[in-house]
Amino acid sequence: MRALRLLNWKSEPELVEVPKPVPGPGQVVIRIGGAGACHSDLHLMHDFTAGALPWGPPFTLGHENAGWVDSVGAGVTQVKEGDAVAVYGPWGCGVCSRCRLGIETLCENPLGAPIPGGGGGLGLDGGVAEYMLVPSERFLVPLPHNLDPLVAAPLTDAGLTPYHAVRRSWAKMGPEATVAVIGVGGLGHMAIQIVKATTAARVIAVDSKVAALALALEVGADETLESNDQTALKIREMTSGHGADVVLDFVGSEPTLKMALAAARTLGDVTLVGIAGGAVPFSFFSQGYEVSLQTTYWGSKPELEEVLNLASRGLIHAEHTRYSLADAAEAYVDLAAGRVVGRAVIVP
Ligand SMILES: [Zn+2]
Ligand SMILES: [Zn+2]
Repeated sequence: MRALRLLNWKSEPELVEVPKPVPGPGQVVIRIGGAGACHSDLHLMHDFTAGALPWGPPFTLGHENAGWVDSVGAGVTQVKEGDAVAVYGPWGCGVCSRCRLGIETLCENPLGAPIPGGGGGLGLDGGVAEYMLVPSERFLVPLPHNLDPLVAAPLTDAGLTPYHAVRRSWAKMGPEATVAVIGVGGLGHMAIQIVKATTAARVIAVDSKVAALALALEVGADETLESNDQTALKIREMTSGHGADVVLDFVGSEPTLKMALAAARTLGDVTLVGIAGGAVPFSFFSQGYEVSLQTTYWGSKPELEEVLNLASRGLIHAEHTRYSLADAAEAYVDLAAGRVVGRAVIVP
């Protein structure tokens, strides 16, 4: 079968021929119906060097996957051949207290996981391929009957990550609250829909690109603002001087973090999701009183089930641009150049 593999750090991935995987006991092989191309894959290609992570190349890219069960190993009882499934991407040990809650992103026994701190497409072979080996049926979530794997694939990260970020701040998203979403890309456009679908808060979307702001309005943002050094001030003007109750930063650069802190209301939440690598000073007076700063990372398996439920009811939808497996490398080139509308999904 064909697979897009990262063969070395600091290199472009290559489409190569590899053997089709065979499931061992407890394992499942899925036929890929869609694999999302994520910005973090670009970091894997370009920014990491040997030793920075507990794992490394070669491996097949793709950590946002859905498809159909192709074959199962001995002892698999929850899924059968032909079932449509999404793959829960963060693979933990399955037995520590976090994993037992389904929060395998924060597994505290990484040496008991299939690979420490990784998963399919993150050290082990992912889904930018015709087939993918999933090491346990525990990592599979059945798809609602009306959800195609192509549509579901990006929801496993580009949907789950913003869902988790929004859910953490639900208590601050009452009917009179304002949520500022900075960065309307693959994750940000989902965050807008998730806030609108699960709360009554007002959403102000911020981006530097006109097309992104148009997308924000299409998916339900109440207002949009161009990203510049006046944005935080404008958010205050639009909220009677108070600021936004919750600011979700899907970029994470120094300018967007500064904007987020300056735009946050007292008692508000500033949540850093994007991994642009920016930093800002944190002190008693660097933001309004009692503003909470937090990071988030991916999401839990129960949350993925909730995301798929919202999607099957038509309440959220990942905009996507489809690429064939032969064009998979091009998907990442387009992603790096900012040319992709919504999420790039690779379909073998
Ligand atoms: Zn990702
Ligand atoms: Zn664990």
